[in-house]
Amino acid sequence: MDFQNKTVLITGGSRGIGKATALAFAEAGARVAINFISNSHAASQTIDELPGTGHIAVKADISNAAAAQHLVNEVVDEFGQINILVNNAGVHTEHPIDNCTYQQWQQAWQEAISINLIGASNVTFCAVQKMIPQGGGRIVNVSSRGAFRGEPNQPAYGASKAGMNAMSQSLAQAVAKYNIFVGIVAPGFVETDLAREILEGPMGDDIRHQSPLGRVARPEEVARGVLFLSSAGTEFMTGAILDINGASYLRT
Ligand code: NAP
Repeated sequence: MDFQNKTVLITGGSRGIGKATALAFAEAGARVAINFISNSHAASQTIDELPGTGHIAVKADISNAAAAQHLVNEVVDEFGQINILVNNAGVHTEHPIDNCTYQQWQQAWQEAISINLIGASNVTFCAVQKMIPQGGGRIVNVSSRGAFRGEPNQPAYGASKAGMNAMSQSLAQAVAKYNIFVGIVAPGFVETDLAREILEGPMGDDIRHQSPLGRVARPEEVARGVLFLSSAGTEFMTGAILDINGASYLRT
């Protein structure tokens, strides 16, 4: 997979899956913009680790419509174009319906939908406005197995990812005529900060054994799927959802 002369924006690119994706794109020759919300230290460390030159980090809360627009404008000002958008930023907080307050429940729903779904839709809208006059582009959305399998303790998270799948597939139909193609990856659990507490807790072994490989995914394995769906020759896969879950959840 060769991404020479391509520019990529990865939301939530400072850590975890986003960071692994930034590294993989940079190794394949792309110029990369990573976005983050608050962890400037992790963002600058990621930029330092990327091979090649000209990569940038942009702080923005993608759930804020103006900030998302500013993010895309800054990337285009810097790079001249945006070839690939990876909507990766996301949050995952517990709010079991039988063990949280109404206030906690509302807050969790507000946060999951506004970041995981509306945030991705904000950045997508702004990027598509740039991709249409450019003559095309790629969008890959980082969804989750939870959209299909259920998230009993994080129902808002599952709903946000199911919404992301529906949004992605609708947009795949809407933007193909502009030579813009939309892919989705749906990982099961991945070794990142987001899942650390759960994976290190009492449920960790059970979760690892959901897969016959006896482990969860590594961030690099998800990154590979993102690059694949961004690569030349996968245009006709637009709208496809790529499961990356080690056969821990099979759907037909
Ligand atoms: P992570 O390690 O917690 O990293 C989250 C990233 O998102 C960070 O770069 C963070 O920035 C950024 N971020 C959070 N809220 C943001 C906002 N409002 N605006 C901009 N950036 C924001 O997460 P991860 O595990 O790599 O997850 C990445 C994606 O994969 C998420 O969409 C997640 O739902 C999905 N996923 C993860 C798993 C898993 O088990 N880890 C499984 C399936 C799907 P800061 O560094 O500034 O905080």
